[in-house]
Amino acid sequence: METQLDLLTKECVSYTKNGNVADYIPELSKADPGMLGAYMIAEDGSEFFSGDYMQPFTIQSIVKTILLLQALIDNGVEAVSEKVGMEATGKPFDAINVTEQKLDSRHLNPMVNMGAILMCTLIAGNTYEERFSRVLELTRILSGNPTIDIERKVYLSEKTYGSKNRALAYLLKANGMLADDVEEVLDCYFQACSISVTCKDLANIGVVLANRGRRPGGDEFIVPEEYARYVNATLITCGMYDGSGEFALRVGVPAKSGVGGGIMAIAPARMGIGIFSPALDEKGNSVAGIQLLEKISRQFKLSIF
Ligand code: GLU
Repeated sequence: METQLDLLTKECVSYTKNGNVADYIPELSKADPGMLGAYMIAEDGSEFFSGDYMQPFTIQSIVKTILLLQALIDNGVEAVSEKVGMEATGKPFDAINVTEQKLDSRHLNPMVNMGAILMCTLIAGNTYEERFSRVLELTRILSGNPTIDIERKVYLSEKTYGSKNRALAYLLKANGMLADDVEEVLDCYFQACSISVTCKDLANIGVVLANRGRRPGGDEFIVPEEYARYVNATLITCGMYDGSGEFALRVGVPAKSGVGGGIMAIAPARMGIGIFSPALDEKGNSVAGIQLLEKISRQFKLSIF
């Protein structure tokens, strides 16, 4: 299987030319647009990797899955569902106009910025620093990698150039949906987006979700089965921003992308896949990454549809 993955990766490298590295956060613009790497961890524990799989990058929006999981762990499904909806917004990740009506919780989705910022307020902790520490700890547990930490330069860049996210957070506040201090909440969100990972880390988190909360070969639930199912379902409709419909057609598995160039794909009961390729399409999804996932999905018949 490794040679097949190598071959597919080589076939897709040229697609990196069709995208651009994110530059709205200056630190992200320093990534090498020509990179493409993949890591697959199957349900039986076997691992396959190819290309630039060792390159670290920031998790960005993929952390929204972990923010949602932590919020579910701390509050349960009912309380979380009261704060955020589950319908696709069909809008870009940082959209202000998610609705033409008065904003209410049903218009928010935890995979889109406003909903994800709100998830930070649901995480248990006396301070936002403590809340972030718990998100980091959950990331380490899910990935099985205790050395994971934030990339400080990206975090500072996010914080400095985060006007749009500030606007979104103040909009939540103006609508009575966010009681805490905006800067403190955003600091937790910015740090979470700046967690540095590799394809292997994403594959490890993905395979736990693919196994509905368990590590391959293990009986112990790292996260409750119901919460893994909740996250996977949300990803199908909204994980790839406003490109989720097309992704469902082309690849057909729950997945979450981030503007750092990562994609975490979850093939239920089969495998977790981590992809890295920082050249993005206009929706913020990795161009070569989606291309490679499409080929992997066809080759290994992963689509759930
Ligand atoms: N830090 C990014 C932001 O909120 C995450 C965006 C993303 O990956 O979609 O601006």
